[in-house]
Amino acid sequence: MIPARGAALYKGKAKSVFATDDPSLVILRFSDEATAFNGVKQAVFQDKGRINCAITAHLFDELAARGVPSHMVRQLGERDLLCHKVEIIPVEVVVRNVIAGSLARRYGLTEGEPLDEPLVELFLKSDELNDPLLTEEVAVRFDFAKRWELQCMREQALQVNDLLRAFWGELGIDLIDFKLEFGRLDGKVVLADEITPDGSRLWERGTGQRFDKDVFRRDLGDLSQTYRALHARVFGETQA
Ligand code: UDP
Repeated sequence: MIPARGAALYKGKAKSVFATDDPSLVILRFSDEATAFNGVKQAVFQDKGRINCAITAHLFDELAARGVPSHMVRQLGERDLLCHKVEIIPVEVVVRNVIAGSLARRYGLTEGEPLDEPLVELFLKSDELNDPLLTEEVAVRFDFAKRWELQCMREQALQVNDLLRAFWGELGIDLIDFKLEFGRLDGKVVLADEITPDGSRLWERGTGQRFDKDVFRRDLGDLSQTYRALHARVFGETQA
């Protein structure tokens, strides 16, 4: 049974959420739109939605098979995922293996330096406030999340990091950092949202070639071509 797509519930920067005829399920639709610097830079890239949807579905399947379930039920169409409806926790979890991006800028560190141990950072999910960095104490004090939820998120994020590092590593790609979101579902904290090159830094081992949204943020080339090349690496040339 394919659930019927209902009204749009929410339109984000690169995805929209639709209701279905089952109130416990939603459809996530991935668009070709890209934004950077909190919406200051915008563009449309052919195939981006389809590729991000395919990569998210594949990674959520891989993670679930290895003991980390997500909100995803299954992929429906080329750009649609059927998901359990969750209450998104407004705390973004970033895991880093190599210094890059805002970590380098914030503390004057050198981009590209590996970290001895993965570093977990928390950010408040707020476009108006530009996603400020959070300490666990602040997150708990102002009830953005419960302490046990943050512990759960941290544990799962580190597990996901181990699994994704191995996944990308086998494809000759270093996982530099990535962002995860979690949701509340039946009293549990479950991985939600997406895992895509929009929210990850993926550098080719040896060449350092970027396979992620930094190509758009930093004007390093054509994002559609970059994502098609990544898709080909994940699924084989024929499906690119
Ligand atoms: N990221 C994201 N959404 C955000 C902020 C960051 O998906 O709102 C991802 C980003 O793609 C990168 C990682 O989280 O893989 C760390 O991003 P960083 O904090 O370095 O920020 P940026 O340099 O992207 O501003």
